[in-house]
This record gives sequence, C-alpha cells and structure tokens, in this order.
Amino acid sequence: MKASLLDELSRRPLLGDGATGTQLQSMGLAPGACGERWNLDHPDRVRELHRRYLAAGSDLLTTNSFGGTTTVLAGHGLDAQARAINAAAASLAREIAGDRAWVLGDIGPFGGMLEPFGDVAPEAAEAAFRAQAEALLAGGADALLVETMSDPAEMELALRAGRSAGAPVLLATYAFQKTAVGYRTMMGTTAAEAVRRAREAGADIVGANCGTELSLADYEKLTAELVAAAGGVPVIVQPNAGSPVIRDGRISYAESAAEFAAAAPRLLAAGARIVGGCCGSTPDHIAAMRPQVKR
Ligand SMILES: [Zn+2]
Repeated sequence: MKASLLDELSRRPLLGDGATGTQLQSMGLAPGACGERWNLDHPDRVRELHRRYLAAGSDLLTTNSFGGTTTVLAGHGLDAQARAINAAAASLAREIAGDRAWVLGDIGPFGGMLEPFGDVAPEAAEAAFRAQAEALLAGGADALLVETMSDPAEMELALRAGRSAGAPVLLATYAFQKTAVGYRTMMGTTAAEAVRRAREAGADIVGANCGTELSLADYEKLTAELVAAAGGVPVIVQPNAGSPVIRDGRISYAESAAEFAAAAPRLLAAGARIVGGCCGSTPDHIAAMRPQVKR
C-alpha cells in the first residue's frame, strides 16, 4: 500500500512530472484547441504521456485537467461535459500510476477576473472549482494541485473548494515574474504574501510553477523566498523550461534537460521538497532530474 503523500515527503524529496499542454501539442493537439477534451476523445494519447513521465521516474503524475473548470470549458462549448472530462483525467492518470506514483488532480485558473477587478462573483468561481475538484477526486486523484495562480483571492477560493470536496492533500502554486522590486505574481503579490494566504486557506504544500521570464537561477532565489515564508510547510517548485520562442513558426523552449538536471540539486538545497517542470519541460527533463532527487 502506498504511503500518504505527506508522510513520504517527510522522508524524502519527490520528483514531479513535466509539461502537459506543450507535450500534447507535440502529440498533435492544435494550438488553441481544448487539450482536456482528449481525456474523452484520445485517452490513449493521454495515457501515453503519463506512461512516459512514469518511465522517466516521476513520483507524481499530474492529471490533464488544467483548463477543466466549467468556466474555461464553456469557452470550447464543453461545460456540460466538465464532470466526465475531469473524472476521466483522474482515472487515466490513476490507471498508469497504479500504486507507483501519486496522482495530482490539476486545477488551473477559472479563466476570468474576480470582482472587483473583473465581473465574476467569488461564489461562481468557487462553484466552478468545487465541481472540478469533486470530479477529480471521484476519478481517483490522491491530491489536488491548484497551479499557475496570480490572484491569492482566487487561490483561496480554489483551496476552499478543494477542501470542501474532501481533498486529502492540497498543493498550491503561483506563477511569478521578475520585477524591479522582486518576484511578484501578475497581480503584484509577493512570494511571502502569496504563501501566507495559501497556507491560511489550508494548503499542505506551497510553491511556484510556470513563471514569466524566470531563469533557473531566478527559481533558485525564489525557492529560498518561498521556503522562508512557508514556515515548515513543504515547498514545490516546477519551473517552465525558459520562455517560449517562436522559430520557423514552431514554439520551442530554451532550457535543456541537462540544465534542469543541474538546477535540481540547487532547488533542493534551497529547500524545495518537490521539484518538477512546467511548460516546455518533457519526459527527458524529468529523466535527467531523477538521479538528482534521492529516493
Ligand atoms: Zn506552465
């Protein structure tokens, strides 16, 4: 029987997986198309991606459900299928993970702006998160990962929804960018403030993913800030592989698997307890990091 994620994390650092969206694009998903729909239409390709990450050594498999809130799916006319899409996302990852890896039910932003900056009432956003959280847990997710958040108020709603849906473990990661006054989310929130609010809203693990214009050296510094703010709560850091660059009409990412392998021990030394990758990272990046994350 697999240990609980938090118990295992108290014993050893864990390796996450890499990108989902950019990997699905390399498997034929058209830019702008709904990748989450593949959970229903092309489950074999989604299974194949999970299988590649498991073979690369991932301890954690992230479900293909980043854009799986009813609010985001509505943009593709798929909101009525939200439950089926999210439950399938979790069961596909579960099927491949078995008891060899933990399944993180992935929850991304709901796709709008909350009042007072935007026109979405908090109750509506929370309901969208709740519906997604319930379906991911029903499909077999071990934990929920709320990621790429910019607004701590939105993070709080997603965490509350996850907790009320019964998530055994909640991970909370924000997207930061480098500014003249330090690392901030797009909403201007510092790492310290972002982490504090996520912890107060019940996050068991806190951190960062998918930054804008952040080098791996920036992630190392950001990790130290996150750890200082986390007060003993485990920290997860999943960098994107540099910024996307368009070459010959194709999107590519600058940072190599070898650079990720070199960064992994530095992120762990800075206090991260889970390392993985975000956009642009591949099973090769994860496989290169594996020897650096001691089992
Ligand atoms: Zn990303």
